[in-house]
Formats: sequence, C-alpha cells, structure tokens
Amino acid sequence: MDFAGKKVIVTGAGKGIGRVIVSMLTARGATVVAMTRSAEDLDSLVAETGCIPVVVDLADLEAARAAIRAALPADYLVNNAGTTSLEPFVDTSMETIDHLMNVNLKAPIVLAQEYARDRIARGEKGAIVNISSMAAFLGVPDHTAYCATKGALDAATRVMAVELGPHGIRANCVNPVVTMTPMGIKAWSDPVKANAVKTRIPVGRFAESEDHAEATLFLLSDAASMINGVSLKVDGGFSIQN
Ligand code: NDP
Repeated sequence: MDFAGKKVIVTGAGKGIGRVIVSMLTARGATVVAMTRSAEDLDSLVAETGCIPVVVDLADLEAARAAIRAALPADYLVNNAGTTSLEPFVDTSMETIDHLMNVNLKAPIVLAQEYARDRIARGEKGAIVNISSMAAFLGVPDHTAYCATKGALDAATRVMAVELGPHGIRANCVNPVVTMTPMGIKAWSDPVKANAVKTRIPVGRFAESEDHAEATLFLLSDAASMINGVSLKVDGGFSIQN
C-alpha cells in the first residue's frame, strides 16, 4: 500500500499501536504528523521515521484543537490516542469518567471536526480511522469508563460516516483485542486473567500492534473506498467464538 505524497496525522504516536502506525505509514511513503503527550517518546520516533513531532496533552481540548489546526491540511486522520483506568464499577469516580471522556471520545471528535471542516473547505476527499476497542461491544470487568467511552466513539464514528460521506470523507473504527503494548500490560499483566481471554481467541494469540496498523492503513486507503462507518474487529475471531 503506497502512501507517497500523502500527509497523515496520527495521535498517541509515542508508544504501542500508534507508534507502529507511524512507522508503517512512513515506510510506505507518507509524511506523518505524530502527536503525543511525552516529548521523550517523540525524539526517538523522529530519528526512526522522520515524522513531524507535536507534543500535546489531548485531555486539554483547546490545546488539541490548536494542535490540529496548526498541523492541517492533511489527507488522513488517525485518532489512536487512548487511555484507561481500572476501577470496579461501584468505585468508578466521575473524575475518571471525565478524563476518559476527554481523551477517548471528545478529543477524537474535536480533531475529526477540525480535519473534516478543512477537507470540506478545500473540496478534498479524505478518511478518518478511530482506534476503538473490543470493549466497545463488551462488558469488561473494571473498565466502566473505558467501555463507555469506546462504545460512544463507535457511535460517533457512525455519525461521522453518515454526515461526512457525502463530502467524500469516510470514517471507520478499528477495534483491537488485547495487545501487549504499555496499555495492554497495565490491564492484562495478571496471567490468569490474560489466559482466560487468550484461550478464547481462535487464532491462539493476542494481537500485535502491526495487526491494527495494517487494518488502519487499509481503511485509510482507496482500497477501502466503499467501507464507511464500520467497526472492524481485529480480534482473531474472539467475538464470534461460541
Ligand atoms: P499505549 O498506552 O501503549 O500508548 C498510547 C499512546 O497514546 C501513548 O503514546 C500515550 O502517551 C498517548 N496518549 C495517551 N493519552 C494521551 C493524551 N492525553 N494526550 C496525548 N497522547 C496521549 O496504548 P495502546 O497503543 O495499547 O493503545 C492505542 C489505542 O488502542 C488506544 O485508543 C487504546 O484504547 C486502543 N486499544 C488498545 C488495546 C490493547 O490491548 N493495548 C485493546 C483495545 C484498544 P503517554 O504514554 O505519554 O501518555
């Protein structure tokens, strides 16, 4: 898949899935604006990929809006940044819900709004990929805020698909199963808990960040020009297992 001449904005680029998406895009010719929170992650990523670094805390929605306005125009947008907090349902704090709403839902919406306005004003087509989660469909213990925000992200993406489609801008989600990034390790380091999930994945393994990056590049590309508004489960068959 060739992204030569294309400019892509990727959030959460410092670690895990986002970092691999940046590497794959630059290896396939794209110019990538890599947004993340920790500057030290970007130093090495710039050295590895030649990406354009932007340090921003996306929980600050006005900072997020300013950052993407400065980065536009771009051909494609990947909203990958996400965060989690593990709390039993009865102890889940409203502060946790507010924080995850900002990072996992509101920031992707703000960035997609700015990106879409710019594409529409220029009369240019485009594509948005929002990295959601299998948690959008499931009740995962201790993940109240995470499941709620990811379910909402899928719902918002369907509205983006319907409203932006007529302008030639497609919007889709990629929904990863457990992937041993820094976030995956935080949530799934207990081997008993992790194995209970892994044994239910028909392909017999957790996902790799590359699995999600390949799906993301496909959905961005013209090869997916008729795919709009889907939540693509990258889960090795986990969700259809009887
Ligand atoms: P990681 O925690 O490994 O990496 C997330 C990246 O996003 C980091 O670079 C992090 O920066 C950045 N980020 C987090 N919060 C902010 C913020 N407020 N502002 C700017 N950047 C931020 O996560 P993954 O790579 O595992 O996750 C990527 C996406 O995939 C997320 O949306 C996640 O919900 C989703 N996902 C992951 C799964 C998994 O098992 N790993 C499963 C299902 C979905 P910093 O480290 O500096 O905070």
